[in-house]
Amino acid sequence: MDDWENLPGRLIVISGASGSGKSTLVRLAMQRPEARTRLSVSATTRAPRPGEEDGRDYFFLSRPAFEELRERGQFLEWAEVHGNFYGTPVGPVRELLALGECVILEIDVQGALLVKERVPSALLIFVNVPSFSILESRLRDRATDSEETILRRLANARWELEQVHRYDFPLMNSELDQAVNDLVALLVQHGCGG
Ligand code: 5GP
Repeated sequence: MDDWENLPGRLIVISGASGSGKSTLVRLAMQRPEARTRLSVSATTRAPRPGEEDGRDYFFLSRPAFEELRERGQFLEWAEVHGNFYGTPVGPVRELLALGECVILEIDVQGALLVKERVPSALLIFVNVPSFSILESRLRDRATDSEETILRRLANARWELEQVHRYDFPLMNSELDQAVNDLVALLVQHGCGG
């Protein structure tokens, strides 16, 4: 039985195209003392990038392991992004919400829309950038990805940017400090103050 709406905490969903800078934005906002939030750690079948740690950045799983968890209903949502599976482990999120915490999910658009269906009170924030060419250069600067991966991410980014109207709040990330301030203000306004 889905009774998400009776849990005292709040679910915050943050999406934005690859290269929108959303991870940096979320990390900086979470460090600010005015905001009190917890970040959900997703599971993924993609390989770790240099510097990424299992259990901190993601739970890195094989496809069969991911599929088994999915079949057992262990994900609040899951999606295939750029050829890999990603999912939000349901248990930790429910536990934190039961404790009255604000839980941030940094997930793609498909997953965000699934969460909104299941948990209508979830707040959906979309991190936007002033122009598509900014996304492209940010993706290319991240030299760890192959050309094929970059092109696939760019095509996906175009589609994602068109979905912004389905979110509760667009958040422009042109100047980082300003965007962090805006995100913290949104969080505090929605019951995630420190
Ligand atoms: P990356 O591979 O660059 O870390 O992430 C690729 C995309 O997958 C990003 O848009 C990221 O937000 C999304 N993502 C990360 N975790 C999840 C998740 O648990 N569920 C869904 N639906 N998307 C996720």
